[in-house]
Amino acid sequence: MADAQLILALDQGTTSSRAIAFDREGRAVATAQQPFEQRYPEPGHVTHDPEAIWASQLAVARSVVAQVGGARRIAAIGIANQRETTIVWERDTGRPVADAIVWQSRVTAPRCDALGAAGLEPLFRERTGLPLDAYFSGPKIAQILDGGPTLRPSSDLRRRAERGELAFGTVDAFLLWRLTGGQVHATDPSNASRTLLFDIHRLAWDDELLGHVGVPRVVLPEVRPTSGRFGETSAALFGRAIPIAALAGDQQAATFGQAAFAAGQAKNTYGTGAFLLLNTGSRAVTSGHGLLSTVLWQLGAGEPARYALEGSVFAAGAAVQWLRDGLRAIDSAPEVEALASEVSDSGGVYLVPAFTGLGAPYWDPYARGTIVGLTRGTGLPELARATLESIALQVGDVVEAMVADGAPRPTELRVDGGAAANDLLLQLQADVLGVQVARPRVLETTALGAAYLAGLAIGFWSDLAEIGAHWSLDRRFEPAIGPERRRRLVTDWRRAVERARGWAAPGEELGM
Ligand code: ADP
Repeated sequence: MADAQLILALDQGTTSSRAIAFDREGRAVATAQQPFEQRYPEPGHVTHDPEAIWASQLAVARSVVAQVGGARRIAAIGIANQRETTIVWERDTGRPVADAIVWQSRVTAPRCDALGAAGLEPLFRERTGLPLDAYFSGPKIAQILDGGPTLRPSSDLRRRAERGELAFGTVDAFLLWRLTGGQVHATDPSNASRTLLFDIHRLAWDDELLGHVGVPRVVLPEVRPTSGRFGETSAALFGRAIPIAALAGDQQAATFGQAAFAAGQAKNTYGTGAFLLLNTGSRAVTSGHGLLSTVLWQLGAGEPARYALEGSVFAAGAAVQWLRDGLRAIDSAPEVEALASEVSDSGGVYLVPAFTGLGAPYWDPYARGTIVGLTRGTGLPELARATLESIALQVGDVVEAMVADGAPRPTELRVDGGAAANDLLLQLQADVLGVQVARPRVLETTALGAAYLAGLAIGFWSDLAEIGAHWSLDRRFEPAIGPERRRRLVTDWRRAVERARGWAAPGEELGM
């Protein structure tokens, strides 16, 4: 009997590249991972060598293909990627003209400030769903074309771009270009919607926004549906051509991997930061409360896009890292659970982990980490518990912002990411939200989502119902405190956040 077919997911993350092969039941059957170098050329600036991204991604893909017995086992490839990270390369050689500017980099903050000072924030918000923040790709493209202190000072890049010699891509498009041997230059709406250049309502690049940001249209990739045939890998890479059938930003892919297909469904990923996405269906909700409005996916040509409200919290697992590396209260991140469980509450202590400012919904680059409510009775267990509570409370703030924007309160929060292994954290999350928290068996939801999107395009899976049926529960956490205690917790947390805000002097903003 021929070996069963598989879908290969490429999960190109900020610190590592991963490849996972999934079977028809959505089970991971082979996996490989490789970290790559992070570059910090100056404070607040982060870059990647695009060749390191490519080399690590190709190596893990080849490893998984070899583990499963060769490319004949792979029916299609789906790609999920770190979002917003910006690469510009030469069309004729495929060579990058500069290092990738990583999403975390603040190097384009002055460009965004200038656009804001020109009164353009409402225009960008309305068309793109995004605030004018250094996080997003468009100004990073302009930065590369104009050169800069830490980029190769090549004065003719802008002219070369205008002549059509250069191509821009987020990491999805760069990998697609490389995998197809330069045959296909395309991206999908979930990635395009993070550029500040893409009209999320018309699903098209916007010439007026391109003009404001200073990006020539000829560098842009074609935008195609998230799930669909993008092209084939060059036969030389894996021994035979494999169809590439999906591109999606990592958080949108994770939402798909969580089978949060219906409006009102939400997922939260607890990694270094936390990313909560609420599916708002075919409606792009413009946030008045510090959230982003973003495209989730488009499942076929002519199909309407699905949208989400998104809130990003900068420090989630990072707060646990601080307990480990800064305070040395624990030796490894999972130990936080036992330490925090030594006490039944934090004794009135609140920790606001605003190490690099606060993200959604506060967007305060001047906030700094703060601990309030210390007494002589406070010990490491109380601090550990306050740390876990701070993660849950920040996610709670994002949910409240969504409700304030008019979204219905989700009835369940699906969770994933490294820190979702922590039972106490998820119990605290259910308590803070007053909503059930559901952890699936498969926590590799980003790769799984990319696989599902690719498999859907080639008929490996027939529809969303079939995919949704794979979602299986590991454990559900029910709210265990009453509304009175919940209100008290949230009120005190907000008072602690107020004390953390505006602490650093202007000029000391770290933004991310
Ligand atoms: P990323 O993709 O952002 O690198 P991961 O999803 O791998 O993050 O999760 C790692 C983060 O989760 C780290 O910040 C770590 O401190 C935290 N973490 C890992 N395990 C636990 C745990 N059991 N309890 C709390 N935090 C944890």
